Amino acid sequence: MLLAMTRVAIIGAGAAGMFAAIQAAQAGASVVVFEAGSKPLAKVAISGGGRCNVTHDCVDPVAFAERYPRGSRELRAAFAHFQASDLMQWFAGAGVALKTEADGRVFPTSDDSATICDIIRQTARQAGVVLRTQHKVRSLSQSDQGFSLRLDQDLVQADRVLLASGGARQGMALAEGLGHRIMDPVPALFTVRCRDTLLKDLSGIASPARLQVQAQGAKHSHSAEGPLLITHWGLSGPALLKASSWAARDLAAAGWKGTLTVDWCPQWPEHDLRQRLRDLRSEHPRKQVASTPLAGIPRRLWERLIERAGLEGVWATASNAILEQLLSTLRRSSLAITDKGPFSEEFVVCGGVARKEVDWRRMESRLVPGLHIAGEALDQDGLTGGFNLQAAWTTGWIAGRAMAQPLAGSVCSN
Ligand SMILES: Cc1cc2nc3c(=O)[nH]c(=O)nc-3n(C[C@H](O)[C@H](O)[C@H](O)COP(=O)(O)OP(=O)(O)OC[C@H]3O[C@@H](n4cnc5c(N)ncnc54)[C@H](O)[C@@H]3O)c2cc1C
Repeated sequence: MLLAMTRVAIIGAGAAGMFAAIQAAQAGASVVVFEAGSKPLAKVAISGGGRCNVTHDCVDPVAFAERYPRGSRELRAAFAHFQASDLMQWFAGAGVALKTEADGRVFPTSDDSATICDIIRQTARQAGVVLRTQHKVRSLSQSDQGFSLRLDQDLVQADRVLLASGGARQGMALAEGLGHRIMDPVPALFTVRCRDTLLKDLSGIASPARLQVQAQGAKHSHSAEGPLLITHWGLSGPALLKASSWAARDLAAAGWKGTLTVDWCPQWPEHDLRQRLRDLRSEHPRKQVASTPLAGIPRRLWERLIERAGLEGVWATASNAILEQLLSTLRRSSLAITDKGPFSEEFVVCGGVARKEVDWRRMESRLVPGLHIAGEALDQDGLTGGFNLQAAWTTGWIAGRAMAQPLAGSVCSN
């Protein structure tokens, strides 16, 4: 009596597809990965500015899962199987040294994404994974004999298929063709265009900020805190990317138009800030307000903020009413978002195969047994900081293990 080797076909050689391939092959499946591009792991190679922010150092799966605007609940359960610490152990076992930066982001100590790509490619090869680059899967169908994948030249049969095609609509359409619902893919981490005199000529200035983003016509706003970077087209930086991620769906629906309210002094409670402004007036009555910025606010930005509040000259001339006006400007500068920015620092798509239609314990379709889905092809996405790659590793790991299991009826006698 022999167990037939499960024939696994993987669509997409990104982080999710390659990690799944390794798990499935190491567990005994016969695995072939089809990649439309000329190289595997293309996004991993450019991730983290070429350094590859592989994950985030946070051992609490609940806290980790909170960094996913979509898919948080499902990923929390998935992280119980394979989380950031498991990934770090996996890399350590493979001989890759990682380091954690002060903000929790994890990188290879080489600061070179090639270290990550090389070890994954090498481990896959050693496990017997067959990789076919420049092989785009054009269509996918299922019959009693399993799955048929149509490529430009070939028709391939498989017992199980993993859709790990990332955020591209065409890949998601393969699951749609088998009956899955696709949540419309739209950008989830992006910079924004803001044309406002407050920001004019301040390009390159960064300041801590708390943001509130409200898309035009949306009922709710979304907030985020962190460094905010002024660019020549508008705004960027961690706080903005985070806010854009939470507000992604609303902003897309509004054609990327909305309002951004900036608190330039997030570290100050309102009462203390008011007192600090009054103290500055009494400490420096004869000094120019422009030359005495509030601690933490870059000088050129401060000049714009006081100008907007109508404050000029020396501190002694500032009435309480003017100080209240400045307080309001510091706390609530309202800027119009006119569009998304020209490019993103970490471009991720939200949308994909509907989460409810997938059994996250096996990353297997609830509609099409034998079809597995992982990574960005699913309607899940995270904030910047290593969360998107971790979701790809985790869902790939779970799918890979599940796919190695034989299908019912695959036992043959000999
Ligand atoms: C510039 C940039 C920087 C980033 N930096 C980070 C970071 O530092 N940390 C982090 O956590 N995340 C980062 N991300 C996000 C992260 O890279 C992705 O979320 C992650 O790589 C998604 O992995 P995936 O395997 O699901 O999809 P992908 O990596 O997109 O892989 C999908 C693959 O499928 C292939 N494919 C698609 N359709 C087909 C088809 N029909 N047939 C065959 N092949 C197909 C594609 O060519 C692609 O290679 C970054 C993203 C970008 C763009």
